[in-house]
Amino acid sequence: MNRFEYVRPNTVVEAVAAALAPGAAFLAGGTNLLDLMKSGVARPARVVDLTRVPDLDRIEQLPDGGMRIGALVRNSDLAYDTSFASNYPAVSEALLSGASAQLRNAATTSGNLLQRTRCPYFYDIASACNKREPGAGCDAIGRETRAHAVLGRSAHCIATHPSDLCVALVALDAVVEVHGRSGRRDVALEALYRQPGDAPERETVLEPGELVVAVRLPSAAAGFAGHSRYLKVRDRTSYAFAVVSAVAGLRIEDNRIVEGRLALGGVASKPWRARAAEELLSGQEPGEDLFQLVADAALAGAKSTGGSVFKIELARRVVRRSLRLATAGTPKLPPALPASVFTMTPGSSFHG
Ligand code: SF4
Repeated sequence: MNRFEYVRPNTVVEAVAAALAPGAAFLAGGTNLLDLMKSGVARPARVVDLTRVPDLDRIEQLPDGGMRIGALVRNSDLAYDTSFASNYPAVSEALLSGASAQLRNAATTSGNLLQRTRCPYFYDIASACNKREPGAGCDAIGRETRAHAVLGRSAHCIATHPSDLCVALVALDAVVEVHGRSGRRDVALEALYRQPGDAPERETVLEPGELVVAVRLPSAAAGFAGHSRYLKVRDRTSYAFAVVSAVAGLRIEDNRIVEGRLALGGVASKPWRARAAEELLSGQEPGEDLFQLVADAALAGAKSTGGSVFKIELARRVVRRSLRLATAGTPKLPPALPASVFTMTPGSSFHG
């Protein structure tokens, strides 16, 4: 491991100032950064530990009915927060489908948003990777691509974003609060992420030193609470990243969909909001023919160069099934294995 400077600021302003130094990296739960440092993928010159910055670990109800989640709120605490889980059950289900219980106890909201891809070539420092070393090339293209993107890819990078949480947040119009040297600004979570283009090393629109301090969900997002599900296909039933996932949220009145939300995970360079597909849901009666049309629209333009080709049809099926589950309604007692395609049996491991 390389030598690095360790600093522990006491305020957001101090943290931003500390992170303006060249090669600085924020440390929150450490569940991704420490792995990257140990494997030599990340070599920060300065680690800015945020854990002493006050008030970043709060979950707050906002006066307008929305909720604000501090950057350092642990994934477990958020998933099991009764008020949060009842307003945004699909977000809670997505959180509980991620990683392991131990990791969810340590991992933070902002860390989840800003985690790096799990592309195996990115983690293998003997492989060429444009994201790790701009201009080096991409060893994934033309080789093993099972874990790679079918949407939002470029000729320079085909990596996927690994988060479950962000898929559900993007579908619900989450907004990120960011502090930088010029003060505070809001960024829609969907707009936080860049597509790889010819600069896959730049994954977000964050400027040097900018710190994510919170995520907000609007009150309108709670309108999907009665009909929303997160569904995740993975190689193991727990402790595995999504091969394909989807979140579906519906507002249903008199057996018609007033408004639908749909986003996919595991298939794209960013949490992938399927807006054109969502529009097909408005004003329609839920049913298999409609869900087929929506699934086809969600995957329109999907491409693969090899091992990931199966994900295109798999994603269509996951979309259809997530819409079917959302139509049936959010269960009062959520499944013991959240987001699993194998069991939908109500259980007690959720926020019940
Ligand atoms: Fe690197 Fe992206 Fe290629 Fe993976 S797909 S090796 S992250 S450039």
